[in-house]
Amino acid sequence: MSSSAWKVSPPADGEAITWQEGQLTIPDRPIVPFIEGDGIGPDIWRPTRKVLDSAVAGVYGGARSIAWTEILAGEKAKAMLDEWLPQMTVEALKQYRVGIKGPLTTPVGGGIRSLNVALRQLLDLYACVRPVRHFSGVPSPVRHPEHVDMVLFRENTEDVYAGIEWEQGSNGAVKIIEFMRSVLGKRVREDSGIGIKAISVTGSKRLVRKALQYAVENGRTDVTLVHKGNIMKYTEGAFKEWGYELARDEFGEVTVTEQELWSELGGELPEGRILVKDRIADAMFQQLLLRPGEYQVIATTNLNGDYLSDALAAQVGGLGMAPGSNEGDGLALFEATHGTAPKYAGLNKVNPSSLILSGVLMLRWLGWTEAAGKIEQALALTIEQKRVTYDLERQMEGATLLSTSDYAQAIVDNLG
Ligand code: NAP
Repeated sequence: MSSSAWKVSPPADGEAITWQEGQLTIPDRPIVPFIEGDGIGPDIWRPTRKVLDSAVAGVYGGARSIAWTEILAGEKAKAMLDEWLPQMTVEALKQYRVGIKGPLTTPVGGGIRSLNVALRQLLDLYACVRPVRHFSGVPSPVRHPEHVDMVLFRENTEDVYAGIEWEQGSNGAVKIIEFMRSVLGKRVREDSGIGIKAISVTGSKRLVRKALQYAVENGRTDVTLVHKGNIMKYTEGAFKEWGYELARDEFGEVTVTEQELWSELGGELPEGRILVKDRIADAMFQQLLLRPGEYQVIATTNLNGDYLSDALAAQVGGLGMAPGSNEGDGLALFEATHGTAPKYAGLNKVNPSSLILSGVLMLRWLGWTEAAGKIEQALALTIEQKRVTYDLERQMEGATLLSTSDYAQAIVDNLG
């Protein structure tokens, strides 16, 4: 099929979300583009949509609903339009300001490193937001997973992830090594591959701003800047410094640093204040295992955030349970955080919770908090009833094994 034969066709009665002067306006029937995803994508998308629609219908009785519209990316786009990431998909996300997606295959060759990274960069979705909490009854490798309740903000657009790198022996690598030697006086082995780690004031401050805004809006009292600044002073260390600067300049009325807490306030955080502190990344891994209850919101650079978010997810049931979003200013894309698990594709077997909970995040982003809360409660109840998919069933005593669709139906039944 040629690109011109396929169009994004939202329902005629849907309306676009708008963003003006820093404010979102959400209509009662917003147009929400969705990407089914590859591999297990369709298996988890169908039941997710059913759970979201049932909750919204149950809570708002028809006064609010979602006007879903499909957009294409990944294998489906390649098969139908001979493109991995059609421009119209990017345009639709820009126009409607929101989207939800299943996992996408990473194409091998063809000029695109990763569709997910491409989408984040094209739409300037600079914050990867990963809330991590435990649902009672979900198997965990730690003794007190219920102490884990935090939201991680990971910078999404720079750091070594920006993909600025040159293969060993390539013209670029040779030139840079020579430039470093002759102009900067820095020696690098001649048989090295080269990657560039760039961290900017702009990227760091807008990420920390989002984390602090979240803390203010959600009554969280603790934001931790995680960095490896003891070794990488001008990138990771600078991230920390700029984070503190932003907190002081823009949130000075509501924030207190750890130093102020102990030197001026006797260790007591005043009512209504947010404690801003920092931790070195390796120490933070230990903290998250030993004292997770001391951390509520984390703001960190890209690579640290990548490791930390999966390590945190492991404490609360693994990637099948971990929701996520990629957010910019007035634009957000919600997604399952796991991959396409191709060996399970079409088997109606895998856990759809990651995508369902990403849908919950989306409902909160829309301001539809009652529907979001209902789904979270119903999902928690379903797990307490030990009616779960294979990944949880194999680790739980006396659980009932459900297919993807039956698990979603159990959640719908529990919506009440
Ligand atoms: P994966 O698809 O996440 O699967 C790895 C394993 O995780 C699965 O074999 C399964 O473990 C478990 N798993 C994943 N999703 C699950 C679910 N919903 N329910 C239960 N268990 C689940 O990782 P991968 O095999 O490394 O990656 C496959 C493809 O996905 C690659 O092309 C990769 O690039 C892509 N990917 C996409 C995204 C994204 O779109 N956001 C993210 C990561 C990877 P068991 O077999 O032990 O049950």
